[in-house]
Amino acid sequence: NEYDYLFKLLLIGDSSVGKSCLLLRFADDSYVDSYISTIGVDFWDTAGQERFRTITSSYYRGAHGIIIVYDVTEMESFNNVKQWLNEIDRYANDSVCKLLVGNKCDLVENKVVDTQTAKAFADELGIPFLETSAKDSINVEQAFLTMAGEIKKKMGNQPAA
Ligand code: GDP
Repeated sequence: NEYDYLFKLLLIGDSSVGKSCLLLRFADDSYVDSYISTIGVDFWDTAGQERFRTITSSYYRGAHGIIIVYDVTEMESFNNVKQWLNEIDRYANDSVCKLLVGNKCDLVENKVVDTQTAKAFADELGIPFLETSAKDSINVEQAFLTMAGEIKKKMGNQPAA
């Protein structure tokens, strides 16, 4: 046992917002432009369809933290955050920690989701919010650390099972 805490974290959000790249950046400090989404990620994009309900609920079960990711250059991905929050309400533990992340903040010219709008939305829900770039390694570690901090706060000093 070489860790003090073990958390189950999920990254959810629309397809192509950069979930795989964020994870790769955090876990491996690498980035590949042509990175192909894993089958798992594509598969979970079907979450919400009734026939995947059992699998969906087992995916969410036991999660300590959920990072909801949108793409700052895709308004649709931000609008869909509400849908993802509904999924969380439906399937995840009530006490699960949430974090809102607007990824691809390096694409300044193409940005369509205003920082203040997203921040206000997150504030209303009482969820921390960050803008990240998996590509330029901006705020990625910060995002995972914020999540871990939230979980630790919620759990008190009790290490996760
Ligand atoms: P997923 O479907 O949410 O897992 O998205 P991916 O991680 O597969 O990323 C989708 C596409 O967005 C890929 O072509 C990535 O190279 C690109 N991408 C991911 N993160 C960033 C980022 O921070 N900045 C930019 N410019 N592109 C990104």
